[in-house]
Parts: sequence; structure tokens; C-alpha cells
Amino acid sequence: MIEFRGVNKWFGDLHVLKDINLTIGRGEVVVVAGPSGSGKSTLLRTINYLEPVQEGEILVDGEPIGRRRQGNRWVEDSPAEINRKRQEIGMVFQQFNLFPHMTALENVMEGLVTVRRMPRQEAERIAREMLARVGLADRMDHRPSKLSGGQQQRVAIARALAMRPKVILFDEPTSALDPELTGEVLNVMLDVARQGYTMVVVTHEMGFAREVAHRIVFMDDGRVLLDVPPEQFFRDPGHPRARDFLGRVL
Ligand code: ADP
Ligand code: MG
Repeated sequence: MIEFRGVNKWFGDLHVLKDINLTIGRGEVVVVAGPSGSGKSTLLRTINYLEPVQEGEILVDGEPIGRRRQGNRWVEDSPAEINRKRQEIGMVFQQFNLFPHMTALENVMEGLVTVRRMPRQEAERIAREMLARVGLADRMDHRPSKLSGGQQQRVAIARALAMRPKVILFDEPTSALDPELTGEVLNVMLDVARQGYTMVVVTHEMGFAREVAHRIVFMDDGRVLLDVPPEQFFRDPGHPRARDFLGRVL
């Protein structure tokens, strides 16, 4: 479902993604872990072309995103192509990024109406169904300011699901939450994983990783150092940098 082929990225002189080769299958849940500044968010953001890359290519469901090879040169996607491909990829951020002036229901409907051009009635039906699925049937008419952080993040997940994406990306979805609110969000993510979605999750929640991930990708200094099943990662990652990291987060 997602493939990185020889990807390199720089911010100016800073080489932030180094020779990334990664394949994520349909329905796979991959947890990306690693120290702060190792390139996890950047890796995630290249998948929906929020960040362009300078070398290599990224394919989603077999389709190159952002740029593709044509003979021996690279051709950039048009903005319309990028928008079309982005609709297939859901993203959930650390800061929930909800519209403050809209209710939970309106937040979930927004993309369906404006991007998918769906009639309001149909969009509302889907939004209600998605909000119920994340346990917010009784909070649909609340604005974000009237919801807890955990509830806001669940609205953000409902919004991503409503678009029926092929892939959902999560960037530290529980890092901004009080500890007592992380569980409700992780439970919703667990439920999403069980529905067979392809998920890439950047998180320090190693309990979630152990229980849900098919693979753990460990990054350090822009490189993928390990790409292993969780059993192996937690038994002994076999790499001093990863052992170090585990010692700090467990
Ligand atoms: P992580 O998510 O693992 O903490 P990031 O992907 O956010 O790491 O960052 C990787 C490196 O790229 C860091 O050194 C960070 O400071 C740098 N970086 C991230 N975004 C930008 C940007 N927009 N401009 C310049 N440098 C950036
Ligand atoms: Mg990050």
C-alpha cells in the first residue's frame, strides 16, 4: 500500500531522510518510533506530500505521489493530482486541528461536503455514523472548546475515517493529551486497526505498539535502523540506539 524507494530528503543542508526503503502492506499497522528529531514526522508527511523529497519516490497503492519518473527525468504532479491523491490518505495530528467555530458533526462533514462534493444529507449520515463509531454519539453538537482533548482527538479520527482513506497516518496522536485521556484515543485506534485499515503511527506508546503493530520501524538520525516485528523489538532490538531508546520510554 505504501512504498518508499531510495528516498532522500534535505531541509537546506540538513539531511533528514537517508536512503529510506520501506514497504507497508495493505492492512498493516506500522509503528514508527525513535528519538526526537530522528525524522519520524518528516517521513510521515512525505507520504501525503506535505513534504516533498529530493531523491527517490513514494508510491501509495501503486501510484507515485508528488513526483514520478518519466524516462530519465522526474515529473512533478499538478496541484489537482496532488489533491486527488491526498484525499486517499487520512492524517491525524498531535494538535487535533479541528475548526473551532464548527460542531463535532460539522467538522466531520466538512471534507465530505467541500472536497468530496457530497450532498449535505449524505455527509451528515456518514458523519453521524463515524462519530458514533468513536463513541461520541452524544457529543455531535459540541464545539471543540466544549470537548476534552481525548474527545477532540476522537473527532479528528472520525473526520479522517469519514473520507474512507486507503491509509491513515497518525503523528503522535496522544502526545498532547493528559495521561488519563490517552487510553480512550488508543482504544479507538485499536478499533480502527482491527477494521483492517493500513496505518502508520508515530508514537511513544509502546504498549499500543506491542499490542497492535505488525512491525516497528525504528528511526535514528534520518535512517531506518530497524524494521522488525514487535516481539523482536521488545525482546531485544539488537541495536544499541534502539536499546537506549527503549530504556527511556518503557
Ligand atoms: P521527529 O518527528 O522524529 O521528532 P522531524 O521529522 O520533526 O523529527 O525532524 C527531523 C529533523 O528535521 C530535525 O532536525 C528537525 O529540526 C528538522 N526539521 C523538521 N522540519 C523542518 C523544517 N520545516 N525546516 C527545517 N528543518 C526541519
Ligand atoms: Mg515529530
